[in-house]
Amino acid sequence: MENACRKNGIIVKSKKVTGGISGGVWRKMKITGVMVQYFIACKRELWFFSHRINLNVYNELIALGRLIHEKTYKREKKNILIDDTISIDFIKKGKELLVFEIKKSSKLEEPVRYQLLYYLYYLKKKGIHAIGYITYPKERKRERIVLTHQKENEIAKILKEIPKIVSLEHPPPPIKKGYCKSCSYYEFCWV
Ligand code: SF4
Repeated sequence: MENACRKNGIIVKSKKVTGGISGGVWRKMKITGVMVQYFIACKRELWFFSHRINLNVYNELIALGRLIHEKTYKREKKNILIDDTISIDFIKKGKELLVFEIKKSSKLEEPVRYQLLYYLYYLKKKGIHAIGYITYPKERKRERIVLTHQKENEIAKILKEIPKIVSLEHPPPPIKKGYCKSCSYYEFCWV
């Protein structure tokens, strides 16, 4: 069941799931790549996003990201959705399976690395070995990502931690970061 209400220009949607959002750790939670990215970038942002709180504003940076996504790698088949859970920008098959993530800038490169590591982890659990590439078309830069044993363990830990953050009754307190000003939730934290 899905409920939505609008307060002060903010759209709040909540979805009933087993146990409820405040009913403890979800037994079966769909964890997306964006959630892993937010876990590394900002746990408060992860909470807002997971509780389907969207600011009803036009975010130029998000729009620019979408445009870059549409206008680059046009020949590739984009947005490969797996299990309705992870969405890979595009893949290439050769000697190895290559998984690509397109980003507009490398400002959030560490969280994006973990997003892609999660995709590699997810595929590995299905018996598919893949190598990742993050591409920054505007910066003419790309980074190769390999799922090492150590990173695999880190991802497994992150996947245990995410439901704990999401099931908190209130969002974690804000912690100032360099990119807060470009975050959609800025008004929720610093105004
Ligand atoms: S404004 Fe900063 S603290 Fe608030 S959710 Fe965004 S990144 Fe996190």
